[in-house]
Amino acid sequence: MEKVINALKQNNINVIACKTKDEIPAIVEDMLFEGAKISSGGSVSLVESGVWEVINKPCYNFYNRNKPGITPEEQQQVFKEIIGCDFYFCSANAVTEKGELLNVDGFSNRISAIAFGPKKVIMVVGKNKIVKNLNDAFLRVKKVAAPKNCVRLGIDNPCAKLGHCVSLLNNDNPDFADGCQNPRRICVNYLVSGRQRPEKRLTVILCEEDLGY
Ligand code: SF4
Repeated sequence: MEKVINALKQNNINVIACKTKDEIPAIVEDMLFEGAKISSGGSVSLVESGVWEVINKPCYNFYNRNKPGITPEEQQQVFKEIIGCDFYFCSANAVTEKGELLNVDGFSNRISAIAFGPKKVIMVVGKNKIVKNLNDAFLRVKKVAAPKNCVRLGIDNPCAKLGHCVSLLNNDNPDFADGCQNPRRICVNYLVSGRQRPEKRLTVILCEEDLGY
């Protein structure tokens, strides 16, 4: 943990470390202000940590692209609002010991918000996401994150059945963009967040417990 915390700080990424997920809701509430414009990516870590409940409180303006009954037009409006939000919450698919954050998206609204737009980006990351280097980070997506997300989202990609990316069938170390050709492939755009230019725009709440996948 210590190594990752120092590396993230070296990369101009703000880090708040905590021992248990129970500490996270209070950490998040301390950051927010009444009326804050907030949005988020879909994330099991946000739900498991209780952050989802916090950001949905009526004292904040939460822009939910998956709100029940949302129309395609309303969803487009949410995507436009996200760029001007005060806070954007998500997790990371992996964090390396060198302080890099890897995120892989199918629709890519999450990685676009991480890279540009919202004033603050807050990633809630469990220790299970820590890997040695970027190669292991890409492998983590292929072996853990993508298969489990396909199952969660009910997407019939090969990894949902195999439990790992199809690119690993005859190759222990495929290129990062190798994979299936399915129309609903969820590994489409790949974002590595390295050293940041904006001061403290990106915060990682790093938890000593596992969160999400
Ligand atoms: S490329 Fe396709 S099979 Fe491979 S992990 Fe991504 S969605 Fe799954």
